[in-house]
Amino acid sequence: MRNSRQGTIRIQDAVCVIGLGRFGTAVATELMKDGVEVLGIDPDDHVVQAMDGSVTHVVRGDATQEVTLRKLSVHEFETVVVAIGGSIEASILVTGLLRKFGVPNIWAKAVSDQHAEILKQLGVPHVVKPETDMGRRTAHLLRGTLEEYVEFAGDFVITQQLAPEFAIGTPIGELRLRRNYGVHITGMRHPGEPWQIALPETALRRGDHILVAGNRRNADNFARLPRTDDLDSELDA
Ligand code: ATP
Repeated sequence: MRNSRQGTIRIQDAVCVIGLGRFGTAVATELMKDGVEVLGIDPDDHVVQAMDGSVTHVVRGDATQEVTLRKLSVHEFETVVVAIGGSIEASILVTGLLRKFGVPNIWAKAVSDQHAEILKQLGVPHVVKPETDMGRRTAHLLRGTLEEYVEFAGDFVITQQLAPEFAIGTPIGELRLRRNYGVHITGMRHPGEPWQIALPETALRRGDHILVAGNRRNADNFARLPRTDDLDSELDA
């Protein structure tokens, strides 16, 4: 494919981003920062003009049209991101065409659980739900007990929190965490030091931060145990 400014896109290594709203633009510009060539497609003239120069090649076009995608060689890409949210119909039509082309790595944005379900049924291997995922994460973080919250498939999570008071001074292997709380401490950081793997013989200190792995409910319950900062505020009161 020719690009007037930067020569030829190497399609095997490049990524095509369809829909250059906030999500698509963030994906495209981050990929460019990482040195990945990007073909961007959007029907909106203003969007295309705004992105001109920020990605390797940006084209105005309606990606629901097979002829448009073929003209732009999208059927030859290994990785395509469908970042259309406002029109679920357009999102489904585009992903249907990509499935028909046999594009192996399709990443599609879903704006609802139903949208995600349809995309999965279409055989899209990677469905991301930025709004709902971020909403759930925020709900867990805003209660103040967790510093980070990452959810995996099923209901498995890894959380970051301050070490609970009961765990201070005792080697992690002796805390019987799995039996008593259904969680595992996988990483830890003393204040001002780098993260390290939490070994069974590691004893936590006051103010340490820990990474906790387990199912959502167990990790949430574990985060509610009194932590070293709670006791500090009680002593201060
Ligand atoms: P975001 O939250 O990422 O800003 P959104 O979920 O609100 O976006 P839209 O704004 O509807 O979704 O779509 C994102 C982009 O996709 C827009 O710039 C829009 O012009 C583009 N888009 C919509 N339909 C098509 C289409 N048929 N082909 C290519 N791009 C499209």
